[in-house]
Amino acid sequence: MSDSCEHFDAIDLDKFRNYEQCVDCVLKSDTWVNLRTCMHCGGTRCCDSSPNQHTTKHATTMGHPVILMLNNNALWCYDHEIVKSLD
Ligand SMILES: [Zn+2]
Ligand SMILES: [Zn+2]
Ligand SMILES: [Zn+2]
Repeated sequence: MSDSCEHFDAIDLDKFRNYEQCVDCVLKSDTWVNLRTCMHCGGTRCCDSSPNQHTTKHATTMGHPVILMLNNNALWCYDHEIVKSLD
């Protein structure tokens, strides 16, 4: 746990607005609980409460640490394990 994250400073919040479905679950006709958007490539995927946890897999395999948690309007950085509320 860290108290600051330089990744957040580089994020353009207006760049990605694709907030409708998990791109990986749709391919498998699967379902999800909440959605997260990768702030590096814009891909929207399912959260850790979902069966497939596609966002965590994406962040780990692609090295894209910052995601937007759509249900509570906050950023999360996997590298620094820090939350930044956007409210
Ligand atoms: Zn970070
Ligand atoms: Zn998914
Ligand atoms: Zn990504």
